Amino acid sequence: MNFTGRRSGAILAIAMALAGGAYAEGVRQSPINIDKKDVVETHYQPHITATYQSNATLSVVNTYNPNRTPLVNKEWSTLRATPSGSSYIMVGNQQYDLLQFHFHTPSEHKVNEKGAPMEVHFVHLKTGALPCDPEALLVIGAMIKQDSDARGELSKIFDVRNLPQDSTQPALTITNFDLNKVLPKLDDSWRYSGSLTAPSTFTNCTAQGGSIDDQLSADIFPENVQWVVLTKQIGMSKRQIGAFQHLFEEGNSRETQPLNGRSVYRAHH
Ligand SMILES: [Zn+2]
Repeated sequence: MNFTGRRSGAILAIAMALAGGAYAEGVRQSPINIDKKDVVETHYQPHITATYQSNATLSVVNTYNPNRTPLVNKEWSTLRATPSGSSYIMVGNQQYDLLQFHFHTPSEHKVNEKGAPMEVHFVHLKTGALPCDPEALLVIGAMIKQDSDARGELSKIFDVRNLPQDSTQPALTITNFDLNKVLPKLDDSWRYSGSLTAPSTFTNCTAQGGSIDDQLSADIFPENVQWVVLTKQIGMSKRQIGAFQHLFEEGNSRETQPLNGRSVYRAHH
């Protein structure tokens, strides 16, 4: 079947709902606006600790493929860094392995309807997870604000003169990258159940929305992500933010999505 356009997307969603697809209607899509007055303060969310490589080699690619047919617009693409070696987090007793991190502009999440110039997403896969596990992925997100004094680890990526413009250009290799220096402390975060914010065949799970074209038509992305949005922000310089925005001039962020009754928890340890 060939799905094109919004109308067919709706038909696809209905067809999947009739077929019993658990998430066919898009009940837990991301990103969201975090309304502080509605956040549930809790001590029951598990602690998160990171064991990240301090001396990783990054392979940085621009995922925008101008030769794909049909074309997937640049807004669904990103600059993605894949680190060498094993980095992971522990969420309580459960291990999640770091796969990659990538960037959006402007930020995808909002807090009290306020965004930030950028957002970074650290994507983790639950160790041993099955493809259709609704909690297969855990993404740690951090807002990035403009900071005139930003000399952080991210400058190793964004101060490079020639960032790749699209997927036809070779990956950048960045050595001696300390992943620990990028994230703020993990002791204060908002947590909720959500989705990917761009189409993906990552889980290779047809119950999670089908092909990339199907997902775009239905405007529903795989609902297999536990979100951890850090309350503290990261700083990057105006020039570094500009270098990223130059790659994605129309932005590469998805609109905030309805909560549909979901709770957002604040875990403050
Ligand atoms: Zn993302």
